[in-house]
Amino acid sequence: MTITLQDCRERDAQDPLRALRDHFTLPAGQIYLDGNSLGVAPTAAAARVAQVVQQEWAQDLITSWNKAGWVDLPLRLGNQFAPWLGAHADEVVFTDTTSINLFKVLTAAARIAAEDGPARRKLLTERSNFPTDLYIAESICAQHGLQLVLLEPEEILHALDDDAAILLLTHVNYRTGAMHDMAKITAAAHARRILCVWDLCHSAGAVPIDLHAADADFAVGCGYKYLNGGPGAPAFVWAHPRVVNRCAQPLAGWFGHAAPFQFTPHYTPAEGIRRYLCGTQPILSLSALQCGLDVFSASEALGGMEALRAKSLALTDLFIALVESRCAGHGLELATPRAHEKRGSQVCLARAEGLGVNGVGSGAYAIVQALIARGVIGDFRQGDGGVGVHKDILRFGFTPLYVGFEDVWNAVEHLRQVLETGEWHEPRFHQRNAVT
Ligand SMILES: *Cc1c(COP(=O)(O)O)cnc(C)c1O
Repeated sequence: MTITLQDCRERDAQDPLRALRDHFTLPAGQIYLDGNSLGVAPTAAAARVAQVVQQEWAQDLITSWNKAGWVDLPLRLGNQFAPWLGAHADEVVFTDTTSINLFKVLTAAARIAAEDGPARRKLLTERSNFPTDLYIAESICAQHGLQLVLLEPEEILHALDDDAAILLLTHVNYRTGAMHDMAKITAAAHARRILCVWDLCHSAGAVPIDLHAADADFAVGCGYKYLNGGPGAPAFVWAHPRVVNRCAQPLAGWFGHAAPFQFTPHYTPAEGIRRYLCGTQPILSLSALQCGLDVFSASEALGGMEALRAKSLALTDLFIALVESRCAGHGLELATPRAHEKRGSQVCLARAEGLGVNGVGSGAYAIVQALIARGVIGDFRQGDGGVGVHKDILRFGFTPLYVGFEDVWNAVEHLRQVLETGEWHEPRFHQRNAVT
């Protein structure tokens, strides 16, 4: 059955989550399909940050650490978001960046693994993991005498052996949108006594997560993608209660101390996840992030994650169906799994080398630039020259909090026009920017 623009409009009219869009400031004339890279601004954020600057900072100054609750903000936000991760109270803090939190938890995992099984020498991860995860893992291996093993997704379960100490995986792959079965992989790893670290950057706020049900050991994730916390928003970190107090994390700063304001000369880590804090926290950034988390809290009355996931799958299903029916014959291949249980909240289209202008390159970068010029904001991820995913990728993120069904129709219609007119051949769409 052919899908029409009218069908899409009707689906928006019937969408129980439609009202959530009003919590955000969306730039006029744009269809924003990049919320998996930088989430949009919650409308409340500007006033909230202004209040923190003008009142809490400018007027109340140092008293705000107590009076405005600044000192507890990382844990308070952690508690607010914990249910969305399947975590319990006082198990999550928002702090630092994903890269830094990854360094902390991987170091802790390496120390725990060395205590439990000194003969284990391998840190396993996925070859197509996000580069910062690979770089931090490399650095951890160099410091702890571990060997980094890079796997293809289908090799992971077979690679879980008695030499492996740690398995580090990103739940939803940033480049393909493919999602791992967290519970199944964690159980298989635990059967071989391997610690599991999950990176939730592309899944937190986008797909259902239950860290306790999956019995994960550690998790980290991003505040500025699906959580809409603002550019460089603090990230989160979680550790299972059975491992959280087993060792101090390596960045032993005073905010992770058991009693920071006793100013003792020696470090004693706080009990629980607070030990994962390091130094003084960025209150302006945490305040903006809170506005992003508040929208998730508001969505609970409308069905919460179950409703968000249902809409996310409906949006990505619709996008796939429309691209396949309306943009056929232009060399785009679906790089994201069709099976719902294997898909995050984004759709990636691959384009092979040789399809670019005069047979050079894939043309994917220029197609994305032409879409951006039309107000359809997706992004481009380069094929990685022989490792992991080989082809260039056009990437489209669908955030159910604010993307609608008509948006999907219009985005595909622009894509169809860009391909059919060949406007992406124009030289202006081929100039590379630093951030793609
Ligand atoms: C976005 C992302 C990061 C970002 O890390 P930063 O420290 O915030 O730069 C890390 N890992 C994954 C998997 C990501 O998707």
